[in-house]
Amino acid sequence: MLPATFVTDIEQIVGAAFVKRDEAARTAYGQDGLKQPHLPEIVALPGSTSEVAATAETCHAQRVPLYVRGGGTGYSGGAVPLLGGVLMSMERFNRILEIDEQNLLVVTEPNVITGRLQAEVEKVGLFYPPDPASLDESVIGGNIAECAGGPRAFKYGTTKRYVLGLEAVLPTGEIIRTGSKAVKNVVGYDLTQLLVGSEGTLAIITQAVLRLIPKPPSHATIRATFDSIDAAVEAVNELIRARVVPATIELVDGECLAAVTRYLGGAALAPAGTSGLLILEVDGMAHAVEEEAHLVEAACHAAGATELLRAATEEERQELWRVRRELSPALKTIASMKINQDVVVPRGRVPDLFQLIGQLRREFNLTIPCFGHAGDGNIHVNIMVDGSDVDAVDRAHRAQRRLFEGVVALEGSISGEHGIGFTKAPFLSIELSPEVIALSRRIKHAFDPHGILNPGKIFPSTPDAVVGATGPSGR
Ligand SMILES: Cc1cc2nc3c(=O)[nH]c(=O)nc-3n(C[C@H](O)[C@H](O)[C@H](O)COP(=O)(O)OP(=O)(O)OC[C@H]3O[C@@H](n4cnc5c(N)ncnc54)[C@H](O)[C@@H]3O)c2cc1C
Repeated sequence: MLPATFVTDIEQIVGAAFVKRDEAARTAYGQDGLKQPHLPEIVALPGSTSEVAATAETCHAQRVPLYVRGGGTGYSGGAVPLLGGVLMSMERFNRILEIDEQNLLVVTEPNVITGRLQAEVEKVGLFYPPDPASLDESVIGGNIAECAGGPRAFKYGTTKRYVLGLEAVLPTGEIIRTGSKAVKNVVGYDLTQLLVGSEGTLAIITQAVLRLIPKPPSHATIRATFDSIDAAVEAVNELIRARVVPATIELVDGECLAAVTRYLGGAALAPAGTSGLLILEVDGMAHAVEEEAHLVEAACHAAGATELLRAATEEERQELWRVRRELSPALKTIASMKINQDVVVPRGRVPDLFQLIGQLRREFNLTIPCFGHAGDGNIHVNIMVDGSDVDAVDRAHRAQRRLFEGVVALEGSISGEHGIGFTKAPFLSIELSPEVIALSRRIKHAFDPHGILNPGKIFPSTPDAVVGATGPSGR
């Protein structure tokens, strides 16, 4: 249980109306996209940076676990209050403070929904490229904390490329400002980039300065189908050899396509026998788009495309994206449990990754539909099992470990987008050496000497015992 006076202290800081303790609120804020809930003791909704700082200081002083939540779409349990304590929702930090057209930047509070920020800057001809598929629900603070990527990362990079500066609150309650509005800044350690991708374990982001670019005026969307996944991957290699950089290269495998086809009642989405499908988008000035679209088509043709379609209208574009859009609901119909991994390998090793996945399918007798960002080598590997089948779940977990070991052996990484959270914490040592883990723990300790901020995440155990924790169930 929380210390007796603690809740009163938090109510005095943020206002009693902004502290929730009822079961419904605790349940609603106790889970993210992972759907493995743990309930907080209280939910606090601060309205200013000074309230965030005072809340953190109080948690630090009384050793109460503090968890920060943005849009709550994370896939690795980053915002889940594993040990109970305080769940700090940043939902009142939802204002875009400044769009600076001269300096090509936007100053924003962290809980602005990513899609809304994009729409606002596009109104003045500017562009914020990071585009996680969750962009209608996830927020800038969560994207920064996870270094979110998306289909456009191949050409434009991930969130980290766009963060120029941050205002953040340390777990001890101090307020810091990192970086600046300038595009160049080499003063001191790059704390801005240290906070990007730190999964809410080092500091609470209360404001961000983000770099923008001019909005590309034109784009073309092409869909290519192949009778094998290797041919689809070869098309990507052809593109690279032709020095074309599409904004997106989305890959969908045969198992995914079959799932979407079933989900849509047998609709003929692609030629019979399709085992690999690419959705490619090029963007830029109109003449360059036309030239690049031709090169894309030529590369796909050379790799043996069975069908090539180019959208002539926005409706046709949406139709070409349909397979990708319907994937998430379609996969849910395959099995009750989805172990969704976002492994990444160097682009040239994607064929080896698919070979490994094929091996896991056969060896563990599992359905593993895959899709992803082929240009980045970032493939979403979905191990689908009946959650009530103990043997199948065990096989899935063994296959997952082998997948992680395999991608590291291929010089890749166990997570390209979703982060470690608590789900992948037990696998951290597959990828990171003891020296790197020890150094990371020392960094964590420098920011958070009592380990109160997001305990249980990234590292297999918390550095310090915290009081006021309600145990792993959160109840
Ligand atoms: C349908 C779906 C599609 C997805 N597609 C993608 C994709 O294409 N690419 C991708 O990268 N991810 C994707 N994700 C995963 C998820 O959307 C991203 O990780 C996203 O960045 C999380 O943002 P959020 O606002 O929901 O953060 P939350 O889930 O609320 O939190 C995520 C982490 O950020 C921390 N955090 C949140 N706000 C702050 C803050 N202000 N200060 C400090 N720490 C903070 C939390 O403590 C937590 O550790 C997808 C998820 C879903 C459900």
